[in-house]
Amino acid sequence: MANKSILVVGGGISGITAAVEAAEVGYEVFLIEKNAYLGGKVSQINEYFPKLCPPNCGLEINYQRIKKNPKIHVITLAEVEGIAGQEGNFDVSIKLNPRYVNEGCTGCGKCSEVCPVERANAFNFGLDKTKAIFLPQPFAYPMKYIIDNTACTGASCGKCVEACEVKAIDLNMVAKTMNINVGAIIWATGWDSYPVEKIANYGSGTVTNAVSNIMMERFASVTGPSQGKILRPSDGNEPKNIAFVQCAGSRDENHQKTCSSVCCMATLKQIDYVKRQYPDAKVTIYYMDIRAMGKHEDFYNRIKEYDINMIKGKPSEILEDAAKDVIVIAENQNTQEITQLKYDMVVLATGMAPATVAAKVPAAVAYDVDGFVQSGSVPGIYAAGCVAKPGDVASSVQSATAAVLKAIQSTVRG
Ligand code: SF4
Ligand code: SF4
Repeated sequence: MANKSILVVGGGISGITAAVEAAEVGYEVFLIEKNAYLGGKVSQINEYFPKLCPPNCGLEINYQRIKKNPKIHVITLAEVEGIAGQEGNFDVSIKLNPRYVNEGCTGCGKCSEVCPVERANAFNFGLDKTKAIFLPQPFAYPMKYIIDNTACTGASCGKCVEACEVKAIDLNMVAKTMNINVGAIIWATGWDSYPVEKIANYGSGTVTNAVSNIMMERFASVTGPSQGKILRPSDGNEPKNIAFVQCAGSRDENHQKTCSSVCCMATLKQIDYVKRQYPDAKVTIYYMDIRAMGKHEDFYNRIKEYDINMIKGKPSEILEDAAKDVIVIAENQNTQEITQLKYDMVVLATGMAPATVAAKVPAAVAYDVDGFVQSGSVPGIYAAGCVAKPGDVASSVQSATAAVLKAIQSTVRG
């Protein structure tokens, strides 16, 4: 008889949606996430387009649904190591990485105050620092601290252990394995920003003032490295002349063939961030075509009311000069003129690479040419959200809901 429980792998917006939708119709759900917190990339975004509201309220509503539902088992710092069996009856082994802080943590932060060690803050892409014991992000769910064991100096220090009044810290915690049996699996591990390091003609990540669009989200956020002020990374100066370069690593035979579908809208939104902070800043977009589908056309028209220099063409080269200004060389396809223009800062609209490029599904699922998972290629394993297809939050939520229906069918049929 088929097992009626469902494993959801990935705790971003797609995984959260899948878990909540399945549990609210009575299914037991294991929601596992490799990070120390839920929310995924959405929790790093400053504002959604086109409403320009912060994502935290939507995430918080979902966290409340999770908290109230005893059928959802949230397991953070967890990665699937092996899948055996078939639709209706999968045996899954899961590695549980140590947090070094147990469930008793109240989030008081006293440990962090006394910790003498700093480490690069991964949530802000290394643009600022946290202590070695830290809250992984400001709106973390669960609201529990974690130790970065690559930075912590261990028991010879132990200051955090002394400071913790509820004795929640265990510096000797080790990784464990957990085995579960489920009827269906929803793979929702999301996306990674296409690595700038792979784009040699854009400087392979060495142009200091050329940042990715997801880094720009952190710059614009009040919980970001500059408390919401958009500044040039090299010197902290206010940028007066910014360019956005579309399709960086997307729609490109040498990189990803797929259009990431959200980068045009993300850039239009980020132009609004820039213009709200610096109304006199000059803004240029290099683009192949602007993809603002359906109702998003209105947002595009509103942003165009700012005085934007639009250059139709994909830059052939991005360099930096001795002053760390960024030089963009491109052919303007409308005039056939080769332009070589200098900017204080450039934002690369890097595309969405499926998380399965870095960590494949440990099962014989099929992938498309760019590594996106073909949902249902193994009966009982369904892909949801951006690991299946690039998309915005609304389409990820729809994809997750559809995957839940397929997973429920597997628990009946298997
Ligand atoms: Fe507070 Fe202890 Fe949690 Fe640190 S580990 S935040 S001291 S409860
Ligand atoms: Fe920081 Fe590690 Fe010392 Fe704790 S034991 S205070 S985490 S360096």
